[in-house]
Amino acid sequence: MASALVVNVLDLLRRPGAKKAVTVVAKADVFDFADSRINIGSDVEIDIELESSVSGLVASGGAQVAWASMCRRCLRPVEGVADGEIDEVFARGMPARPVAAASEHTSLETETEPIVGDQIDFTLLVREAVLLAVPDAPLCRTDCPGLCPQCGADRASTTCSCVVETRDPRWAALDALRGQLDDTVE
Ligand SMILES: [Zn+2]
Ligand SMILES: [Zn+2]
Repeated sequence: MASALVVNVLDLLRRPGAKKAVTVVAKADVFDFADSRINIGSDVEIDIELESSVSGLVASGGAQVAWASMCRRCLRPVEGVADGEIDEVFARGMPARPVAAASEHTSLETETEPIVGDQIDFTLLVREAVLLAVPDAPLCRTDCPGLCPQCGADRASTTCSCVVETRDPRWAALDALRGQLDDTVE
């Protein structure tokens, strides 16, 4: 089955200056995200513009998908839309890599992806862009007070009576030992 994410670019390559819009809505399972934050039934909306030049094709645009996760402080469900950015250069034949390719980070922008069989498959590109855009440790709101470290109460909705004291961590081991001793005495 031909995927809408595989685009034939022969026409574009023949006409430098020509543009082509690639607008695709694909199911998330196509990308095999293997990420619990993205529901595999979600739609991924892809909007890429391809522009032909004498040296190859420039692909720029974005891919959006809904994500769902937990607030890193209070564990409430949080959701949003990941907006992955796509910005890539493709060329026919061997990828033109700079000589100083050893320094990975500086060479990234000048790297060119090869065009194989006059086609570009955007699947992996979209996958990477989306995964980069999903937040690793989101917050339900920027000033989320989180949970009480002692009783676990949600400070956004309750006020617990815990006394916030900073104990010397060296006593923690002794406290644990004391707990065990109490258990054996009973
Ligand atoms: Zn929160
Ligand atoms: Zn508390």
